[in-house]
Amino acid sequence: MAFWESKQLSEMSDPEWESLCDGCGLCCLHKLEDVETSEVEFTCIKCRYLNQERRCGVYENRAEFVEDCLNIRDLDPEYYRWLPESCAYRRVHEQRPLPKWHPLVTGSSQLMEEGGYAVGEWAISDSIARPDSDFIIRLVSSDS
Ligand code: SF4
Ligand code: SF4
Repeated sequence: MAFWESKQLSEMSDPEWESLCDGCGLCCLHKLEDVETSEVEFTCIKCRYLNQERRCGVYENRAEFVEDCLNIRDLDPEYYRWLPESCAYRRVHEQRPLPKWHPLVTGSSQLMEEGGYAVGEWAISDSIARPDSDFIIRLVSSDS
C-alpha cells in the first residue's frame, strides 16, 4: 500500500510530504471567498513570483514577499477549501485517492500538464492585473 494510502498527513516524513505536491501551481492563483457561504472561487490571476515552470521564485523567503502565502504544512485543515480539489494534501485529508494523473501515480507530470490540471500560459500575473470577479475561472475536474 502506498504511503499516502496508509498514513495520515501528520505521520508523513518530510520527503513523503514534499513528494505529494504535484507542482500544479494552482494554490498560487488568487482566490475569492464568499464571506457568507465560505465558497471559494479561483481566478486566473497568479502570484507574480510563480515562474513559467510553476516554481516559486522566492520560496525560501516567500512570507517576506507575500504575506498571505500559504504554508500548507502549518495550515489548519479547516482551510483546505482554499486548495484546489485536485491537491493531494486536500485529497489525503479527505480520504480520497490521488488523481489518476498525479506524478506519484504516473511517474511524470505529463498527464497532469496535458489534462490542464496545472497553471498554464493562460494565467495572468498579479503584477499587471488585480484579482476580482471578472477573472473567476472553473478548474478542470481532477477526476475527469
Ligand atoms: S495545489 Fe497542492 S499539489 Fe498543487 S502545487 Fe499547490 S500544494 Fe502542490
Ligand atoms: S510566494 Fe511563491 S509559493 Fe507563495 S503564492 Fe507566490 S509563487 Fe506561490
